[in-house]
Amino acid sequence: MKVMVLVKRVIDYNVRVRVKSDASGVETDGVKMSINPFDEIALEEALRLREAGHAEQVLVVSMGSDACQQQLRTALAMGADRAIQIATDAALQPLRAAQLIKALIEREQPGMVLLGKQAIDDDNNQTGQMLAALWQRPQATNAAQLEVQGDSVRVTREVDDGLQVLELDLPAVISTDLRLNTPRFVKLPDIMKAKKKPLDVVQASELGDADDSLDLHIDDWQAPPKRGGGIMVEDVDALVSELKSRGLV
Ligand code: AMP
Repeated sequence: MKVMVLVKRVIDYNVRVRVKSDASGVETDGVKMSINPFDEIALEEALRLREAGHAEQVLVVSMGSDACQQQLRTALAMGADRAIQIATDAALQPLRAAQLIKALIEREQPGMVLLGKQAIDDDNNQTGQMLAALWQRPQATNAAQLEVQGDSVRVTREVDDGLQVLELDLPAVISTDLRLNTPRFVKLPDIMKAKKKPLDVVQASELGDADDSLDLHIDDWQAPPKRGGGIMVEDVDALVSELKSRGLV
């Protein structure tokens, strides 16, 4: 089985994100960029599937400008076998991202697509669900455990009242939650080896015409209002009367 893993280039989760002075977006110049953390977990899981003999090939895919090749090289250094950049300078919305991946799936025929439950830049949590619908294959979101059994996969999800176990026929789309695994660190020799691994570039235009009629246009970006300082109260009675005075209880 070939496992396709989606990796998105996002602002590193340790960076304090700043809105540009002209409110046209967030500042990315000189800002540390990384693989979306949930996608790193997806990649780790794919590598473990390969190591356990359930997969022969791990293919990582990123959509965006040439800058995302940096994250693809990191993914190759983690252990992926091949990488594909779907080249576009457009700011992709989840539906367009899912359409492009669906077109690439026709070429690559993966047995499983693993992706993050959400990208931490836009927090959409939509791409996996849209992809499963377009591909007309089963999906499991927010996977906390994953076991391949022949032509199917058992996925455990943490839900409000316990654990939910789903059994899906492969090929399937699975999005990853935080507790699925802890991604491995990249070692220096692996970074050197990754330079020789194949990284192909496919133009987004080769994968079908962009239907931008459904695109979301963001007119204005605003930083969240600054939080006021807190106050210390003596005891519970003082807390309750403070909350009452503010009309909160
Ligand atoms: P979202 O629906 O935007 O929250 O994204 C969910 C997941 O879709 C991400 O964690 C990625 O695995 C994948 N994804 C979304 N956009 C891209 C992109 N431009 N390149 C690669 N993967 C992406």
